[in-house]
Amino acid sequence: MKNYQELIEDIYLDLKKVDDIGKVANYIPELALVDPNNFGASITTINNENFGVGDFSKKFSIQSVTKILSLTLAYKLEGEKLWERVDVEPSGKPFNSLLQLEADFGKPRNPFINAGAIVVCDVLFSHLKNPKKDFLNFCKEISNNDTLNYNKKIADSEKSAGFRNIALCNFIKSFGNIKNSVGEVLDFYFHICSLEMTCKELSEIFLYLTEDHFITKKGNTVITESQTKRINAIMLTCGFYDESGEFAFRVGLPGKSGVGGGIIAIHPNKYCIAVWSPKLNKKGNSYKGMLFLERFTSKTTSSIF
Ligand code: GLN
Repeated sequence: MKNYQELIEDIYLDLKKVDDIGKVANYIPELALVDPNNFGASITTINNENFGVGDFSKKFSIQSVTKILSLTLAYKLEGEKLWERVDVEPSGKPFNSLLQLEADFGKPRNPFINAGAIVVCDVLFSHLKNPKKDFLNFCKEISNNDTLNYNKKIADSEKSAGFRNIALCNFIKSFGNIKNSVGEVLDFYFHICSLEMTCKELSEIFLYLTEDHFITKKGNTVITESQTKRINAIMLTCGFYDESGEFAFRVGLPGKSGVGGGIIAIHPNKYCIAVWSPKLNKKGNSYKGMLFLERFTSKTTSSIF
């Protein structure tokens, strides 16, 4: 078998020629300005070997990929009580849907749809003294990367047009499942979505999900073995909204997408892979990103199944 570097270069060159039928997200005005031709991927193995191709060292808005990080911190701080506030079932609905919340009395189906991630932000808001700063510090520690930051322009842009999220948060609050101020929780949510990373940084920060006993450079445990298993399980079943089944079927790894066009996937005990291509399919997942990962796990014949 070819090595990872050769493999990702082959896949990259092949996919460069493929017509991209996706569309860049434009409901967040600032995201619509991103060059749709950006395309890159990066793998970091559990031994810290890194391989990259294309635009793998350009920063972009990770959007919903951040929901793994917020879930991790909330689960760490809140423990099993977290599941009283948010469920762990696939929703089978788009990421920004309001539909099920009424029937479910304001308890979101899972932490990766917007409703669930907003509740997770509310949980964090109750725990953290300075939510934006503390969340960023958590990300810096687990990745050993001090350069991470929010993109204020993108956070403000989403705030100015985030009508569905504003509706979701108010609606959940009407059921008592948001404890803090709607405005403050949303401001926090928009900021964590605006976090910027490169593919390389993404493939590094999520290494903690590839092993049962990951220890940060500062010597701290991130989450327990059982929590690692559970977050991976939710990624597999809910990471791509109403396309989670399709991703598991085609790629066969736990993963998570964002409307910035990024996707990360975890191969337990092997590697974390990140890919970025801004044009999204109809379900809001990167069109070429999914193709890239499908080819990668097919060519390496390595998936969790
Ligand atoms: N910030 C985006 C939103 O709330 C995140 C959605 C996504 O990446 N799927 O709409």
